[in-house]
Amino acid sequence: MEVLQPDSWPEALELKATHPDAVPIAGGTDLMVELNFDRRRPQEILDLTRIAELTEWGPVNGGLRIGAGVTYARLIVELGDRLPGLAIASRTVGSPQIRNRGTVGGNLGTSSPAGDALPPLFASDAEVELASRSGVRRIPVGEFVTGPKRNCLADDELIAAFHIAPAEGPQQFAKIGTRNAMVIAVCSLALSVWPERQGVAACIGSAGPTPIRAGDAEQFIGGVLDEHDLWSTRAPIPDAALQRFGELVEDAARPIDDVRGSARYRHHALGVLGRRTLTWAWEAYRCD
Ligand SMILES: Cc1cc2nc3c(=O)[nH]c(=O)nc-3n(C[C@H](O)[C@H](O)[C@H](O)COP(=O)(O)OP(=O)(O)OC[C@H]3O[C@@H](n4cnc5c(N)ncnc54)[C@H](O)[C@@H]3O)c2cc1C
Repeated sequence: MEVLQPDSWPEALELKATHPDAVPIAGGTDLMVELNFDRRRPQEILDLTRIAELTEWGPVNGGLRIGAGVTYARLIVELGDRLPGLAIASRTVGSPQIRNRGTVGGNLGTSSPAGDALPPLFASDAEVELASRSGVRRIPVGEFVTGPKRNCLADDELIAAFHIAPAEGPQQFAKIGTRNAMVIAVCSLALSVWPERQGVAACIGSAGPTPIRAGDAEQFIGGVLDEHDLWSTRAPIPDAALQRFGELVEDAARPIDDVRGSARYRHHALGVLGRRTLTWAWEAYRCD
């Protein structure tokens, strides 16, 4: 197996163009498992760990541009105040070792419906920046992920970064697993409260072929908050509305039965997570 080791981003893009079958490696926490279990045997690997640009982040046009190679550990420490939902999700990823190596770019590259970074990105309408020798394009994350472990990355492209709005209000992420740590989500939910645009966004993880935005639940709760003037009074959300929000989250899921849990359990659990995360986030908004 050939290992290509570019030292710069232009060199990496050049190598990807001339070696379209070369498989990129960042932290290796997904790819090395695939290689060790002989599920993949690529002829060439493109090592991205020497590319400094991929590990940088900063403000761009009022949003944040975060390099694909920023690890979970750095995201928690350096961006936890600006991206609390993604930071909470990052804390649930693997173990300290995995969080020190694993990257959000790698989570996007794998595009697993159980990828924990993805629901917070969906609930913030993040965009993925893809680059090739011939240029750069930005794609909404909901269009980037096209199916289970599938995405729209072309053979000559690499993930450069993702663009995301800093939180305007409370954000939450909750994950159910068969134990507390080192676990693939049975299901998960990311929730973001957007006071300036007066909306709530919710995205389901690990209960469908891709992460799924709970659009009906979002619309319903948006209507309740407007109708009762709750954005300005900051009064509690009525229990019946919390209940209905949970039911609509549950309805949006498209889970299957698998080794981690049954579809029925996932539906039920998502109803609970919907009510719970909205209660937490709204309490934080009220106390702000
Ligand atoms: C013990 C263990 C526990 C884990 N726990 C969790 C968990 O709790 N939650 C979770 O979501 N995941 C978990 N994972 C999976 C993994 O850690 C994450 O998906 C992580 O985000 C992968 O990042 P990476 O940098 O290691 O990716 P890599 O393994 O380097 O790459 C993953 C995929 O993305 C591609 N890729 C990487 N970077 C780029 C790029 N810049 N451009 C194009 N393609 C790219 C690679 O070619 C590969 O297909 C776990 C893994 C292990 C081994």
